[in-house]
Amino acid sequence: MPDLILTYAEATGVIQQHAKTLLDQKPVSEHVPLLASLHRVLAEPIVADRDQPPFPRSTRDGFACRAEDISAAKPLHIIGQLRAGEAWRSSPLASGQAIEIMTGAPVPPGADCVVMVEHVKIKDDVLFIESGQTLEPGENIVPSGAEARSGSIIVPAGTRLAASHVAAAAACGFAAVTVYARPRVAILATGDELVSVDHTPLTHQIRNSNSYSLAAQATLAGAQPVILPVAPDDEAEIESAISGASGCDLLLLSGGVSMGKYDFVEQALKAQGAEFLFTGAKIQPGRPVVFGKLPKQYFFGLPGNPVSTMVTFLLFAQPLIAALAGEDHSGLRFALARLAHDFRTKPGLTRFLPARIDFQIASPQATIILWQGSGDLASTASANGFVVIPPTADKIAAGDSVSVLLV
Ligand code: AMP
Ligand code: MG
Repeated sequence: MPDLILTYAEATGVIQQHAKTLLDQKPVSEHVPLLASLHRVLAEPIVADRDQPPFPRSTRDGFACRAEDISAAKPLHIIGQLRAGEAWRSSPLASGQAIEIMTGAPVPPGADCVVMVEHVKIKDDVLFIESGQTLEPGENIVPSGAEARSGSIIVPAGTRLAASHVAAAAACGFAAVTVYARPRVAILATGDELVSVDHTPLTHQIRNSNSYSLAAQATLAGAQPVILPVAPDDEAEIESAISGASGCDLLLLSGGVSMGKYDFVEQALKAQGAEFLFTGAKIQPGRPVVFGKLPKQYFFGLPGNPVSTMVTFLLFAQPLIAALAGEDHSGLRFALARLAHDFRTKPGLTRFLPARIDFQIASPQATIILWQGSGDLASTASANGFVVIPPTADKIAAGDSVSVLLV
């Protein structure tokens, strides 16, 4: 099998290209109650069913009146009160008049501003405005339709729904929304040394943690994980497990993709008709990562080292899952931070080093965590992101800006 080792940028380009093709083939959709739609991907846009706000809305507790009367500093006659949920039914407000109004109430016709209750004094039914107060017409009022026009799209299809989108849907009267079905992601860990979490391992055995990290990451990425039984380092057994996953939208394998004598995953994939799109990336951790297409679905052969598995999932599998889920965003989140210390490395690879990022308001600070390499889950458990070291860098000074990948 010829090697197809790509740089990080090239590998990302390949993933983006296939993600784009997947996005054009929309997944099936389903109707779910509004609250069950949180974190799902919207299949039909949320459209405003009326102007927002539907009436000129007071944004303050105070008095609706005319701006020109305030400039004239004359006392105003209070002719009534308006609570939120009430409409003004009498004749329009005239010059010299004020109507007491609560936040969220419709500003009555004839009024063009709302003076805040904090800036007035009331004696009997007369309103005295604090001296020096001036208001522009429109102040403390949101005109009807200023936030959204009836019929306009408030949340487009393809959006992964956050709390603010659920709120917008509720405001538009959506008791249920149409979302895309979650892609089914098969997870196949391979390795003779693996035992399940509920078994006591012998000294030379390892608990299978990758099926769990991948299932957790796939769930966060919006997929439905399907954990398959662990396959031993045996080509025929791996092949049969691969063919058993053909009902899923994506297959994630872990382990068995390095140069070891018992690394059979690529041969097994090939025997099952795989086309390889890359067979390695110039990254650390995760260099042996494999991506390609089986007759029924895409697959990733992720390296077995637990940190490599998680990093390669984030970088490559998550964007593909987002596309399978109909999401128009890869889900990858990068930010800039200042490195808290000097750092030296060998150039050549794009590195993603577990880091503790302190998100302070002035400027986030990143500290690379000391680790024993890509098998060190214990150190990585204290990371909340990865510092990205570009392939050209050999040293970075404390205080320099670095890109961080957020998890
Ligand atoms: P491999 O990619 O098969 O060469 O495995 C690399 C390292 O990752 C070895 O130390 C394995 O024991 C470890 N490893 C492989 N698969 C898993 C897994 N599912 N859970 C935890 N560790 C694993
Ligand atoms: Mg192995």
